[in-house]
Amino acid sequence: MRDFLQIEFKKTYQKQAEHAYFSPGRVNLIGEHIDYNGGLVMPCAVTLGTYLLVSPNNEEVFRFRSVNFDEQFEIPLQKDYKKDGKTWYNYPLGVIQHFVKDDKSLKGLDFLYFGNIPIGSGLSSSASIEVVTAFALNDLFECDYSKLDLVKLAKSVENNFIGLNSGIMDQFAVAFGEKNKALMLNCDTLDYQAVDSNLGDHILAIINTNKPRKLAESKYNERVLECKAALKALQQELDIHNLCDIDTATFEKYEHLITDAIVKKRAEHVIKENDRVKLAGVALSNNNLAEFGRLMYASHDSLRDLYEVSGKELDTVVEYSKTNPDVAGARMTGAGFGGCAIALVKESSFEKFAKEVTEYYTKKIGYAPSVYSSLIGDGVGLLKEEQAIRV
Ligand code: ADP
Ligand code: MG
Repeated sequence: MRDFLQIEFKKTYQKQAEHAYFSPGRVNLIGEHIDYNGGLVMPCAVTLGTYLLVSPNNEEVFRFRSVNFDEQFEIPLQKDYKKDGKTWYNYPLGVIQHFVKDDKSLKGLDFLYFGNIPIGSGLSSSASIEVVTAFALNDLFECDYSKLDLVKLAKSVENNFIGLNSGIMDQFAVAFGEKNKALMLNCDTLDYQAVDSNLGDHILAIINTNKPRKLAESKYNERVLECKAALKALQQELDIHNLCDIDTATFEKYEHLITDAIVKKRAEHVIKENDRVKLAGVALSNNNLAEFGRLMYASHDSLRDLYEVSGKELDTVVEYSKTNPDVAGARMTGAGFGGCAIALVKESSFEKFAKEVTEYYTKKIGYAPSVYSSLIGDGVGLLKEEQAIRV
């Protein structure tokens, strides 16, 4: 058995790679569309992610190749790096730019990336490639960034170099993820708790609807505004700063203050979802997967009916899951309107699940989903022996 990535590295750079790193992708187990309302999210790192092999080249140049895109780029060392159109190597380049801006002295490197996580499907391959690059540079050049510094730096790459206005959850989860733990995280304060999440005889199935998330951005902005309107209405009588400052019981007492029916529905989702995250944390630490699964289904139903960010593709995956007794729970994950759903499936029944959900989905939607199996894995780090890809 040979190491697939070393073979690719040698093909590209005619030598062995000296250093190897891995950063996971992430899923959000529950707590959707509440990060911008001061609520709790519950992401975890998955065992799929981005591999980086890298070696010094003793030249004044950075070379980049990604096995996924099969494209190579070369750029000389300089004091300032600019975004280059829409190419993928902007992600590592943006990280390099941040290091240089902070006066870290870097030397020439040859990079080889490979992601076994679906790319562009809401599982944060972008945070994964940013964080693995930042972690590697920090390690190779003995810079003194903490893990949280690297998270903030990677988020800044996404916001300022790539130009996407996203929150900190993704970078945080791929950096701080821990095997068999979910992170109960407040994205405002960055307070978090790693909750034991022993999935027992279940695995995490990731179902990519293969539907582009076209509407996600405009609808996201619309929801942010609706939540602001709900907050303003409640502030007439309540001294609160975020919708998630109140629980379901308080909401039910004051919901009459929100006169717009749509805005009221949005607030109801946010506040009840935040309560569900708290219950989900308790269920997970008690190994109560049945209860956790029930909360996942409730979260999905609320995102479909109250928040209206699902869609027939994601609904179809969840609809099938509800008919399969070997599935504890399922829901859309991420912003919605396409992207991925997750399901907790009995490991022994995963192949059957994958086959049946594919048939059900294809019949209804007209094309196939992609189905992956994963566990809850560790955050970014040196590539471990057991993570190597053998061929
Ligand atoms: P998501 O983060 O949901 O996967 P994004 O659109 O935010 O989707 O990020 C996807 C982009 O990240 C890709 O188009 C590519 O530019 C970059 N990327 C992610 N993984 C890799 C990889 N393994 N190799 C090269 N580029 C990658
Ligand atoms: Mg992304």
